[in-house]
Amino acid sequence: MRNKLIALLLAFVFLTGCAKQQSAAHTRTVFAMDTVMNLTVYDGDAEAALDAAEQELHRLDALLARGTEGSAVYTLNRDGAVSDATTARLLKQSREISLLTGGAFDPTVAPVLELWGFGSGAGEHRVPSDEELASALAYVEFNRIGFGEDNDVTLELPAQLDLGGIAKGWSGQRAREILQERGVGSAAIDLGGDVALLGSKPGGANWRVAIKDPAGGGYLGIFETAGDVYVATSGVYERYFEENGKRYHHIIDPATGHPADSGVVSATVICRDGVWADALATACCVVGADASLALLGSIDTALGVELILVIDDGRVLYTCDGFVPEQENRYTYEQVS
Ligand code: AMP
Ligand code: MG
Repeated sequence: MRNKLIALLLAFVFLTGCAKQQSAAHTRTVFAMDTVMNLTVYDGDAEAALDAAEQELHRLDALLARGTEGSAVYTLNRDGAVSDATTARLLKQSREISLLTGGAFDPTVAPVLELWGFGSGAGEHRVPSDEELASALAYVEFNRIGFGEDNDVTLELPAQLDLGGIAKGWSGQRAREILQERGVGSAAIDLGGDVALLGSKPGGANWRVAIKDPAGGGYLGIFETAGDVYVATSGVYERYFEENGKRYHHIIDPATGHPADSGVVSATVICRDGVWADALATACCVVGADASLALLGSIDTALGVELILVIDDGRVLYTCDGFVPEQENRYTYEQVS
């Protein structure tokens, strides 16, 4: 019961089912990437599988945190070169996503994040001057990343990288793979609101993932799915500061250097692949609703991408049949294709 409460409070995943099945669930709470993560495994050699998944989550946290001395990203940002399989893989995937989104998703946005105080260190939140932004933007360019033999990656300094937009997606993906490799057939991994689902729920009912209302406390609705998907939500409400009555948030439009102002205040992406889901959720907040929906036409249909977008005029646009809107709230819901 306690585990169910944790899942409800932190995960927004409703792990309902009959009491017998719940008692068979094994859960693990992991703190990594500044996030409380909850893993629930329903079958197999659950504790051993959870140990392995937990280990991988800590390993990835240490590897991808750009503020952690010795991490692959830290080394790349300092030396302009690193050889690491995960970093190379993630950056190659980032290149694909960056191209597809017209540069809306771009991990080289790091120097701009730093100026706004959303960087790696304890930088103060403040509104940078136009001159500061212009000089930082000069290095925001994916082509400064180079790929060599094997897992070699280079970065043309003073460009800097930040993988905050996909690190969780990759972690969820890897944790799911590790559980599966160890014989688990049914599991839910909550990464502080983003969720990776493995297999179907015990008993065969649909998983029910509650989608957070960006305005606070409640839910936008419930997404029901048979499984094997990753659900990522990005919102301009997640990290922000206020200055002179104006709000400045952590998702930066690489075209302007300013916090994205596209009208999309929250984007949920459902996708088979965790990295795509995570990156696209960030990108949708940058490009806005029309461009987000248009992107669907150019993404490999095998990824099964679906969107739930909250617009600042109170509309919720969603593309998936599995989304059940919450009845009593201030939003207007429109299913779009
Ligand atoms: P998420 O919470 O997945 O939307 O990721 C937000 C994080 O991604 C921020 O905290 C930054 O570290 C990073 N980020 C912000 N803007 C961008 C962008 N345009 N492209 C790539 N990463 C970004
Ligand atoms: Mg993201």
